[in-house]
Amino acid sequence: MSNYVLPTKMKALRKIQNAPGAELVTIPIPRVASDDVLIKVEAASICGTDLHIMEWDSWSSNRVKAPITLGHEMAGTVVATGTNIDPTLIGEFVSCESHITCGSCSQCESQTPHMCPNTEIIGVDRDGCFAEYISVPEKVLWHTNRSKLNPKIAALQEAFGGAVRASLAHNPRGKTVAVLGCGPIGLFSIAILKAAGASKVIATDTNEYRLSLASEMGADSVFNPASDANCGNTVEWLHKASKHNIDIVVEMSGAPVSIKTAFKAVRQGGYVNLFGIPPRPVEIDIADDLIFKNITILALNGREIFDTWHKTRELLESGLVDLNPLISHTLPLDQATEAFDLLKNGKACKILIEPNNS
Ligand code: ZN
Repeated sequence: MSNYVLPTKMKALRKIQNAPGAELVTIPIPRVASDDVLIKVEAASICGTDLHIMEWDSWSSNRVKAPITLGHEMAGTVVATGTNIDPTLIGEFVSCESHITCGSCSQCESQTPHMCPNTEIIGVDRDGCFAEYISVPEKVLWHTNRSKLNPKIAALQEAFGGAVRASLAHNPRGKTVAVLGCGPIGLFSIAILKAAGASKVIATDTNEYRLSLASEMGADSVFNPASDANCGNTVEWLHKASKHNIDIVVEMSGAPVSIKTAFKAVRQGGYVNLFGIPPRPVEIDIADDLIFKNITILALNGREIFDTWHKTRELLESGLVDLNPLISHTLPLDQATEAFDLLKNGKACKILIEPNNS
């Protein structure tokens, strides 16, 4: 690796204008700042956030500034180091925490950097990993054992970590848990809950392909609330499937109707973990669905840095959770726009891009 000669140019999937879409372009290799490392990207995964940025919804049009390279879930090899960084890191196999925190605010100083108000997100606020190379601060590296996790699984650690935190916020051992929403994060959650000893995991989603994956990941029973606009049938199914005893609901969809379902389905004194992000404010019956039920609500975002990553490593390296069934496609970078179309049409789960394998 020490003899590795860096090229001067690379391919990258970039949003060129503040508008929907992105283009595959050739740009210079990123400059490596003094506290950064340069990673040769071996695998990068597409997240729902990337889809929002691609489609240029109201959140992304307010937050993201073109031109920018998309992508924040990755694994690869360190090929160069900044002047302040130990050059023996060259050759290390790594993944990355996508949230780059400031290190000096009260949250960072209190060891809760996942709540740093100055967080910069890779692929949202600075150039991302849908490229042959990416430069990131050394402090976000997560050293990964290549003999235990291949690049594709290693690239999923960041997204998987979100599900680890949301699913294990209350100990699920021996509990009945409902997972609402079986996108990749919900599917991760099902596997995590089973691995952590939940006695029963039941799941809902409006997409039959995702429900079949939910069963494959270990869900004991699944339900499609497709035509249930006011959540009555779904709550009835959840009550029946759990014998009116859902201890924990993990809400992963963000759909307003699903959030209402969560509060109506959980048992008296149960727990609701909210992780899916609703597109608009949601009306909740606070008296009947929260106070009179004595429930505990946790609202969670991101991973605890790096506590969650340690749990993630344990679940994946031990083989307790196998994410391979969720990798629906592996594509080269020049097919990235097709990958986004597959996701948009609900015909894919996790798509891995291999930027250096075209
Ligand atoms: Zn901070």
